[in-house]
Amino acid sequence: MTTKYKINELFETIQGEGAFTGQPSIFLRLQGCPVGCSWCDTKHTWEINLSDEVDHLTMTSKTAESDQWAALSSEDIIDIFSRKKFKAKHIVITGGEPCMVDLTPLCSVLEAHGFSCQIETSGTFEINTTENCWVTVSPKVNMKGGYKILTSAMQRANEIKHPVATEQHVDDLKALLTDHKVTAKPIYLQPISQKQRATELAIKTCIENNWRLSIQVHKYIGIE
Ligand code: SF4
Repeated sequence: MTTKYKINELFETIQGEGAFTGQPSIFLRLQGCPVGCSWCDTKHTWEINLSDEVDHLTMTSKTAESDQWAALSSEDIIDIFSRKKFKAKHIVITGGEPCMVDLTPLCSVLEAHGFSCQIETSGTFEINTTENCWVTVSPKVNMKGGYKILTSAMQRANEIKHPVATEQHVDDLKALLTDHKVTAKPIYLQPISQKQRATELAIKTCIENNWRLSIQVHKYIGIE
């Protein structure tokens, strides 16, 4: 049976975070996330209500954030890319929490069509994807949903991107890296909500630990 994915939105932009910063990318945002981060900026993706299912034309012509989603196969998605004349060859699969579903069929089809794939995940679900897919784990610790960070996710990650606003967040990350025996991976600190104190803390901590800074450049230049 063809796998269908619940897509909240898809759009072409510039990746603003982590190792692929600056890369023209097509973002595929999946509906559904039970993790419950209080500062989440995509809360409209949390609930999967069957009454919010729409057709692909309605989904792709949304002009504002909403919890509407369309059920699309990998081939449907490729077809939309082509009809929209997207140029980017890098796909960022985000959410919501995309790893609630098996992404292997989707990434296999995308790669067969010449795209590179990247997943952005909270690290709280098993990651099922292709070997070549770049996995960004942004670990969400002690959130309202009560999900634990999985060792398998931390081990699979190609990069760890950690949101920080307080020293506690830095301590949480250090504990995670130790507990899950993570070594020799690029670690990015990302100040939460562009706050000045968070940015200063991130800069100081990156220098102290030889980590990298990720500042969500898309938010500074006013693109999605
Ligand atoms: Fe929002 Fe991501 Fe946290 Fe889910 S994991 S609540 S989508 S920030």
